[in-house]
Amino acid sequence: MSTTTRYSAIVVGGSLSGLMAARALREKGLADFVVLDRKPRLGSPLKCGEAVEASTFDQLFGPGARFPFVKQTITSHSVMCRGHARSLEDVPQLRFYETDRPQFERWLGQPVQEHLQFSTTVQSVERVGADICVETNRGRMLTRGLIIGCGAHYELQKRLGMVEATPSMGYACGELHEVSGSEREQDKFAWHILERCEGYGWLFPKGADGCNLGVLAFGGGKLQDVLAEFKRDQQVKSTAQVRFGGRFPQNGPIRHTVADSVIACGDAAGMVFAATGEGIRYALRSGRWAGQVMADAVAKGDTTRRRLTAYETRWRASFGRELRAGVQVKELLMALRRSGHLGYFLKRLSDQRLADFMLGKQRYSIAWLSAAARIADWIASRASWQMPFRLPQWRRGVLSPCLPQE
Ligand SMILES: Cc1cc2nc3c(=O)[nH]c(=O)nc-3n(C[C@H](O)[C@H](O)[C@H](O)COP(=O)(O)OP(=O)(O)OC[C@H]3O[C@@H](n4cnc5c(N)ncnc54)[C@H](O)[C@@H]3O)c2cc1C
Repeated sequence: MSTTTRYSAIVVGGSLSGLMAARALREKGLADFVVLDRKPRLGSPLKCGEAVEASTFDQLFGPGARFPFVKQTITSHSVMCRGHARSLEDVPQLRFYETDRPQFERWLGQPVQEHLQFSTTVQSVERVGADICVETNRGRMLTRGLIIGCGAHYELQKRLGMVEATPSMGYACGELHEVSGSEREQDKFAWHILERCEGYGWLFPKGADGCNLGVLAFGGGKLQDVLAEFKRDQQVKSTAQVRFGGRFPQNGPIRHTVADSVIACGDAAGMVFAATGEGIRYALRSGRWAGQVMADAVAKGDTTRRRLTAYETRWRASFGRELRAGVQVKELLMALRRSGHLGYFLKRLSDQRLADFMLGKQRYSIAWLSAAARIADWIASRASWQMPFRLPQWRRGVLSPCLPQE
């Protein structure tokens, strides 16, 4: 006869968001919880470019120099589009850490080790009265505090009424390489807008350990072919040490990130900056808040949706606008690429503006971004369209993204 185990809280997913939630549960004094993950151990398999915006990281953990998993700090970037190159030198706002993600996950998991249960796949969830019943390959569990941090998978959220359909997905794949320092710029992140599909290629140096490179696409296409071509362009000839791939939500957060007795965080809540596919910074923050809010709710014996809404209020206030802007920035960049004006656009933006764009912190309203994307798309559909007259200089500045290439 199979037994049913009861926990005060269950976390699905032992990666960034799930581990942050677990740490917060523990910090708040909850002892009776478990983290379930289908993988055999922390940090494996890798499926990531491993780059994280430094300021978020520092806010959460303190300055990165102390951490062995931070392989390099980067403040310079090059952005390439159809031969147009844009260089951003030492922009403090665009400070990133290139990490060793498996090592990072092991470090995150350390304080909650006794709560981690690997090789455990959550197969389904259902409500049984006020409880949530979690069905796994290793038995059944009951809880009134479920935290979903299972990445870009949405079956559990669908069953709990948090989302109706699987959100639209982008895809990415990459490789780790050992490359000698002399072969390429070791202190710069390179972002290349792709010709073969809607997306970009990245090449991130990783200190003495080599580099992480890959391609990301918002639409379909054979990513492996695109990656092979990108590697040829970048003259990366070494054999990959590790290959990885995965998907990411590309249209912003899911509709409800809380329900009675449930919180979703990280990719499982759709929290990815759509224009670049970055999700680490949101997974870390949302995971921590999910754990804090759930621990308080469990302690008070009230895990109703009303109480858990504190979580949703918190992340929306912190980065809700940024995530919505990410979707519009993605639309705009891809429409400009289709219309052939992206290089022109990149050239015209100041370092500050471009940095703001890449992080979703620009001052443009969401409505402006969306309108600009539609105009650029309209121009793309009229390839031979030319301005019938010459605008005064100040107007050209405002409209620059939408004007034909010079
Ligand atoms: C190729 C690629 C490159 C990327 N590069 C970057 C980058 O450079 N910078 C950046 O910021 N973001 C990047 N991202 C996005 C980033 O990896 C994610 O946003 C981040 O990992 C989300 O963390 P998470 O904890 O929410 O989910 P995940 O890291 O996806 O973890 C989910 C966990 O849940 C487990 N799980 C899933 N389903 C079940 C189940 N049914 N039962 C039990 N366990 C389950 C999985 O095994 C996994 O451990 C990249 C994504 C991809 C695909």
